Amino acid sequence: MLPLDAAQSTYLFGVMRRKPGDELRVFDGQGGEWLAEVAKANKRNGLLLCKKAVAPQVTPPDLWLLFAPIKKARMAFMVEKAVEMGVRKLLPVLTGFTNERINIGRMQAHAVEAAEQCGATFVPDVAEPVKLLELLENWPENRKLLFCDESRQALPVATALAAQSAGPWAIVIGPEGGFSPDEVVALRRLQAVVSVSLGPRILRADTAAMAAITAWQMALGDWR
Ligand code: SAM
Repeated sequence: MLPLDAAQSTYLFGVMRRKPGDELRVFDGQGGEWLAEVAKANKRNGLLLCKKAVAPQVTPPDLWLLFAPIKKARMAFMVEKAVEMGVRKLLPVLTGFTNERINIGRMQAHAVEAAEQCGATFVPDVAEPVKLLELLENWPENRKLLFCDESRQALPVATALAAQSAGPWAIVIGPEGGFSPDEVVALRRLQAVVSVSLGPRILRADTAAMAAITAWQMALGDWR
């Protein structure tokens, strides 16, 4: 039996008007997708009976997306696309030119909605924001970092990734204002960094995130 919290109960029985006996599919991010039946339709604390597993747990590759907060609508879009395309963790980073705030709870809700929409069985966590420079000082040495460098002095992303191997990776995308000079120095100095260009045009941060995830998934991820 699966007890539902108030938000889930309100949604299922207040908005979706599900009744006892109705069937639906549920997932919790670890155990794959299950067929469930409404056992108690109550807008505060509903109850589901999980009947059988219908799809295996599919966990995306170990890829983090580090992104500087951008305008709300675009950031929601970026989170939603990152979930659909397959990232393991979403990590907001505060940079010198970041001038937007982030509502973690709202971004996490967008991540859950995106997973539900695309039939995923995994929902990446949206972590609490951290200062980029501090994060780089303690960067995990076994994790490669794809630095999307808008100066375009770096290798084309396809060329760079062709020479790399799969494993724990992260992608870092700057804010509308780009990375500050000291952030660029700190990134280029990091052993784990692979600097890449995403082509000759300047992309918006949300576009750049999608482009970098696509390139990485095609070269090293679960799109091969
Ligand atoms: N203010 C910067 C400028 O005008 O040059 C643009 C920053 S861009 C809107 C936001 C982020 O997207 C950049 O920090 C970078 O991470 C990424 N990006 C955009 N275009 C890129 C490109 N052609 N190559 C690599 N990264 C790019």
